[in-house]
Amino acid sequence: MKHYKPKNRLSAQAYIDGVLKGDRMVLSRAITVIESNLESDKVLAKEIIQNILPASGKSMRIGVTGVPGVGKSTFIEAFGKYLISQGHKVAILSIDPSSQRSKGSILGDKTRMEELSGMEAAYIRPSASGETLGGVANKTAESMLLCEAAGYDIILIETVGVGQSETAVHGMTDFFLLLMLAGAGDELQGIKKGIMEMADMVVINKADGDNVKQSDRARLQYQNALHLFPPSESGWTPTVTKASALHNTGIATIWENILSYKELVVGNGYFVENRNQQRIQWMYDTINEELKQLFYGSETIAKQLPKLEAQIMASQISPVKAAEDMIAKFKEVLSFETN
Ligand code: GDP
Repeated sequence: MKHYKPKNRLSAQAYIDGVLKGDRMVLSRAITVIESNLESDKVLAKEIIQNILPASGKSMRIGVTGVPGVGKSTFIEAFGKYLISQGHKVAILSIDPSSQRSKGSILGDKTRMEELSGMEAAYIRPSASGETLGGVANKTAESMLLCEAAGYDIILIETVGVGQSETAVHGMTDFFLLLMLAGAGDELQGIKKGIMEMADMVVINKADGDNVKQSDRARLQYQNALHLFPPSESGWTPTVTKASALHNTGIATIWENILSYKELVVGNGYFVENRNQQRIQWMYDTINEELKQLFYGSETIAKQLPKLEAQIMASQISPVKAAEDMIAKFKEVLSFETN
């Protein structure tokens, strides 16, 4: 654990004031603090978050997912520009647990959404890097709160990795948009049924040129497939539309759908209920994550585990007994450390 304090940090108050004023430079620097693993930054981050919390939450949070190549960044570029033309301020964040932040990936992200990234009303931040999905998701969720406090009223959160990151994005957004392609089976697209079930809207992208007819067919197929799922808690029936992110068609319809969704769920109470549940879940996820780190980070435990593994392999101890012994040991470690 590193204990030094970086010299280029501002005071907590300066971060808070800057973010609340919508100062992009300060917002970026505040997110850097959130993403940092230094102990002094963690303290600073907590103070910043605590103070901007009342100004957060006033946005529509939209998750965007789909396999690599489906057109997520092209779509976000088109959709983001559309939203800005409607007077919105849009922040784009992403969750990529495999991301190792480097000059290359930042440049990569910039060129992926070239026009949008040059716009005053857009704020694009590539994924935090980190070892665990939970850690990366936490940082993204806190960055989202900062963006809201800075006045961004639409947050787009893109999944970059395939797999568990969809669940993480779904757990922190109000609306979940799944991009698909016509003419490729679900299996081919690597989309699991569970992800289809989370979608509030499926967009068949690349519905242009020779692909239009096929896209219409795919739209009907997905519409039928979605009807087979149990009705969602929100009371919303997921919609399927087609679009061409490249040629900018179908974009306004997507936003109209999201607005209809919002009207429905604000009206029936689901919007607030869902956000409350998400925040409560966020607390439990964090507790679980921290407990795990505390346990596996203990030197005593780390030393014992290989021995127990050997005993289990030699059938000298049952796995359950081994686990219980470790927990007992951990309790000893804790009481030793707190006394
Ligand atoms: P991502 O990996 O999901 O972010 O996908 P990209 O946005 O990078 O797009 C992958 C490729 O598909 C690029 O070559 C895009 O130009 C192309 N593409 C994206 N959207 C469309 C579309 O609507 N129509 C067509 N024809 N190509 C598209």
